[in-house]
Amino acid sequence: MAARWLTLIPADEARRILAETPPVDGERVPLAVAAGRVLVHPFVTPDDLPAERRAVMDGFAVRAADVHTASELSLVVLDVVGSVPMGDVFHGRMAAGEAVAIATGGFLPADADAVVMVEHTSALGGSGDGSGGGARIEVARAVAPGANVVQPGEDLPRGETILPAGRRLRPPDLALLATFGVVEVDVYRRPRVAVLSTGNELCAPEAAPRPGQVRDANQVALAAQVAAAGCEAIAAGIVRDDAAALRAAIDRLLAAHDAVILSGGSSIGTKDLSAEALAELPPPGVLFHGIDIRPGKPTLFARAGGKPVIGMPGFPTSSLVVFDAFVRPLLWRLAGEAAREPWPARRAARLGAAHRSVAGREDYLRVALDQRDGDLWADPLRGGSATLSNVVRADGLVCVPAAVDHLAAGAPVEVLLYV
Ligand code: AMP
Ligand code: MG
Repeated sequence: MAARWLTLIPADEARRILAETPPVDGERVPLAVAAGRVLVHPFVTPDDLPAERRAVMDGFAVRAADVHTASELSLVVLDVVGSVPMGDVFHGRMAAGEAVAIATGGFLPADADAVVMVEHTSALGGSGDGSGGGARIEVARAVAPGANVVQPGEDLPRGETILPAGRRLRPPDLALLATFGVVEVDVYRRPRVAVLSTGNELCAPEAAPRPGQVRDANQVALAAQVAAAGCEAIAAGIVRDDAAALRAAIDRLLAAHDAVILSGGSSIGTKDLSAEALAELPPPGVLFHGIDIRPGKPTLFARAGGKPVIGMPGFPTSSLVVFDAFVRPLLWRLAGEAAREPWPARRAARLGAAHRSVAGREDYLRVALDQRDGDLWADPLRGGSATLSNVVRADGLVCVPAAVDHLAAGAPVEVLLYV
């Protein structure tokens, strides 16, 4: 497998391979815990919404024909024969010349076809018992049939695929499902993703590093990125640079998780340790080792059956950037999400300094935004992949596509925002 090293594949091809990741299986959960979960089946409306004609204003249910001549100068008087109680319907009949008091959301009486807003009426007295019975109103405005009434299916007709399969459920979606009486939904399991660090030089963040040691920065950051991508992150510790130990750790983690993300051990100086450890994975095994990007070239991807194994570059900055650009979309797919825009938040800006790249290589510049001279500038931050401060200071990334080898200062760019 070591032969694959330095066989850089173009970023587009890496994306294509990563997009072939199949989803985990599904489970049925109560609606109350379904927020942020991904739908297995489309939701098709089983009925009209609303199912009945309902008032959208407080006022009086009327027959539009009774008030079609009404105006400020020609008031129409109607008898109020009752009211629509909230939580019930008006059980009586409403004859010509009659009205029924109704509140927003109330179900329209069968004999009514419109609602006059309360503001366009004035009371002429009545029984005073609160029922509206015996009272009369003056109507000062004509209404057309259907005025201030929502018709059955006007909000959503029956049979509409309102939530597609692969949709990550948002609070409005839960409101919709509850409206239709759906109390359980089939969603994909939340993928369990193990995060493992490799390297003889690494110690835990809480340890005092001995000379030659560095604290493990990737594990906590990757776990946070995994969680933010909607998966369950399991921190799996540090493994030494030993192919057999690494292979054993990956086998053990694969048995109990849906994916494994390891970092380090994949750059050329480490004898291609990760690729060696992954060489005997179940097929299809290692699919690429090396992407033509900067930072993050030594990124490795394997699949053990349906389970992804991702070897992240060791430098924290590279790992952070590669996660957002390549691994997050993969985890979304693993979680069952259908094609989703990988960078939801973008902002147009002008590049603060010229950038020289290499044709064929996709670059991710860490940039800080600055408003000056009437423009928004994306200033590239100093330092390469060994520099952690640049990604910490960055407001986002600018992706320089593979086909572009030079960007002039002031060039229009799109900043992929950190949110
Ligand atoms: P490697 O891919 O193992 O050769 O690592 C490349 C560089 O990243 C080396 O300087 C490592 O010390 C550093 N590195 C690898 N893993 C981590 C980690 N988990 N936290 C911080 N630095 C790391
Ligand atoms: Mg290493």
